[in-house]
Amino acid sequence: ASPGKKRYNIALLPGDGIGPEVISVAKNVLQKAGSLEGLEFDFKEMPVGGAALDLVGVPLPEETFTAAKLSDAILLGAIGGYKWDKNEKHLRPEMALFYLRRDLKVFANLRPATVLPQLVDASTLKKEVAEGVDMMIVRELTGGIYFGEPRGITINENGEEVGVSTEIYAAHEIDRIARVAFETARKRRGKLCSVDKANVLDASILWRKRVTALASEYPDVELSHMYVDNAAMQLIRDPKQFDTIVTNNIFGDILSDEASMITGSIGMLPSASLGESGPGLFEPIHGSAPDIAGQDKANPLATILSAAMLLKYGLGEEKAAKRIEDAVVDALNKGFRTGDIYSPGNKLVGCKEMGEEVLKSVESKV
Ligand code: ATP
Ligand code: MG
Repeated sequence: ASPGKKRYNIALLPGDGIGPEVISVAKNVLQKAGSLEGLEFDFKEMPVGGAALDLVGVPLPEETFTAAKLSDAILLGAIGGYKWDKNEKHLRPEMALFYLRRDLKVFANLRPATVLPQLVDASTLKKEVAEGVDMMIVRELTGGIYFGEPRGITINENGEEVGVSTEIYAAHEIDRIARVAFETARKRRGKLCSVDKANVLDASILWRKRVTALASEYPDVELSHMYVDNAAMQLIRDPKQFDTIVTNNIFGDILSDEASMITGSIGMLPSASLGESGPGLFEPIHGSAPDIAGQDKANPLATILSAAMLLKYGLGEEKAAKRIEDAVVDALNKGFRTGDIYSPGNKLVGCKEMGEEVLKSVESKV
């Protein structure tokens, strides 16, 4: 260990398909950007998902969870593939993600949707609408209608089948996600829009009441409210109006997928899942892309940008994070493109070469 360097333990969970390819690239970028800011990382690489099933027969081995739990932050690649698609439920690779999120108690899911000027053409929206979009969706991840009891399919008094789901939010669950959102807005442009359905749903009425009450602690953040049906429309009509959005589990699930299509490129989008204490989980939003795995075709930028979120939201190392974000923009400005974001006139590169170009850009800005 070199003196004067801040040290962090990072758990690397490459997973399946393109996971190992994008993680290997992102690890190098993270290491370089960190070292330029006086940070040193101890990486611990552990199997997860299908890779873990093949190795030890379970999707999330005890040793992997322990290493993740004891780390300062977790960088995950992707999970799943055709090979395990017929496994019974508890032996499906995807269960690893479910267990990880649940047992790390990461209740806040942050997903940016940014349209970089170099990639405006990739957007599904018109250029004038897409240009300059830069928002962050903060989704509650561990509560709400996906978990509330009672739930299930039962038989009612007329002998008819009924499906039941229940949305429950306790005040403390709303408060803690709202705090993450206010803090996030504070690090961005200071605007927070809370999305609910408070005209119909009781959980939403409490949601709006608690978020409103917290606003007085964040006088520097401008709070607004929007019904989810309107928000779904506004995201397409004028996405630039949004800075930070905070919403519940199910609305966030839907709105963040909608927002990802504004950017048009799944290979570019990172995510963070944060808990009250303990390590955060950082991963690209794309899956394991088995169709291009092992061919050096994957876009590593979503994972590289996840590493930047790890630095910013996981470790509070904003300068090192900025180095990575700037380097990604620099590599794009130089015209380097993987297949998924390629347009004529640019330079088509593979996963490794894109990684090397980002590394060069990180180094060039000492
Ligand atoms: P999930 O595992 O979340 O169910 P999925 O199977 O729906 O994911 P992905 O694995 O993300 O979808 O792949 C969807 C499509 O996007 C595929 O054609 C894949 O090749 C492409 N894709 C996904 N990630 C990337 C990437 N990083 N670079 C290039 N193409 C990608
Ligand atoms: Mg898949």
